Amino acid sequence: MKIYYEHDADLGFIQGKKVAVLGFGSQGHAHALNLRDSGVDVRVGLRPGSRSAARAEAAGLRALPTPEAVREADVVMVLLPDETQGKVYREEIEPNLKEGAALAFAHGFNVHFGQIRPRRDLDVWMVAPKGPGHLVRSEYQRGSGVPALVAVHQDASGSAFPTALAYAKAIGAARAGVIPTTFKDETETDLFGEQAVLCGGLTRLIQAGFETLVEAGYPPEMAYFETVHEVKLIVDLIYEAGLRGMRYSISNTAEYGDYTRGDLAVPLEETKRRMREILRQVQTGEFAREWMLENQAGQPVLEAGRKRWGAHPIEEVGARLRAMMPFLRARVLEEVG
Ligand code: NAD
Ligand code: MG
Ligand code: MG
Ligand code: MG
Ligand code: MG
Ligand code: MG
Repeated sequence: MKIYYEHDADLGFIQGKKVAVLGFGSQGHAHALNLRDSGVDVRVGLRPGSRSAARAEAAGLRALPTPEAVREADVVMVLLPDETQGKVYREEIEPNLKEGAALAFAHGFNVHFGQIRPRRDLDVWMVAPKGPGHLVRSEYQRGSGVPALVAVHQDASGSAFPTALAYAKAIGAARAGVIPTTFKDETETDLFGEQAVLCGGLTRLIQAGFETLVEAGYPPEMAYFETVHEVKLIVDLIYEAGLRGMRYSISNTAEYGDYTRGDLAVPLEETKRRMREILRQVQTGEFAREWMLENQAGQPVLEAGRKRWGAHPIEEVGARLRAMMPFLRARVLEEVG
């Protein structure tokens, strides 16, 4: 697989253009600030009365209502919540989008599943950083970057790919490496990863471990340290040195327990069988349809999930223990608000 770095990307493809970043959340604030610091002419598009307008302006950015930001722009990067993009595209983006402009995304969901059907005159591409916005910003400021995927869905101008690469370079991603893909592969692997492993899988593993210890009579504080808090220490080792590096770093006792007891907690073949079902629902569009219906109904399942999971004892003990550790800053919540 060809990986693109800074010398493969020509900032000239983005620096002469007017870029509108729509949304000032996790990705939006990071893209807008990194583009600005790379010398790109950037404005932020927001809803009227958005609380983010003051934050964007305090950071030295121009904030405009979405339709106005789009009218000015040669490149429109859509960094709104995925479930709102279709409606905002139809009502506020497409009617104001210049002939021949570029429409860009950080996730392929809406284009791949047909929620957005872009006009034929537009370039449509994606730059999807493989990390949350606060890291996209802080790595850029350190002189580094978060790797990104790039993909082209529609190339009306003939220069969609070099423009996407230039955008990736301007947000710092080409310092780390830019990997070419397709909207289909990015969307399907992203959904599968967050459902099976990163969010759905990991939270259930943590919950099962915590509840097992507490139900056996151990103090919840101890259960929290062993099954929640220390996850980060292990994940950091995996992140930096892979599974083998993590196993090298832990005690031999822990490593022996890993090899001999891991399958008892997470039976590999059975788990893969279930994960293939998750993947099937993603690939067939079954998950996407369900998520769109959920949104049409006003997100009742999301609300119920937040209520139910937010009241779990793990949250109460966690809040108390985190307060004992002032070195833990709720960076994500602070920045995204
Ligand atoms: P977010 O929820 O953090 O921020 C969305 C922003 O859009 C907020 O500023 C919100 O106020 C604003 N907004 C909501 N509705 C709006 C409307 N109707 N008009 C104008 N503004 C509106 O979202 P995010 O997590 O940054 O995700 C943005 C995109 O980036 C999504 O496509 C997501 O899949 C993708 N992405 C996110 C991450 C991540 O780690 N957060 C990583 C890679 C890609
Ligand atoms: Mg979010
Ligand atoms: Mg992802
Ligand atoms: Mg995702
Ligand atoms: Mg331990
Ligand atoms: Mg060891």
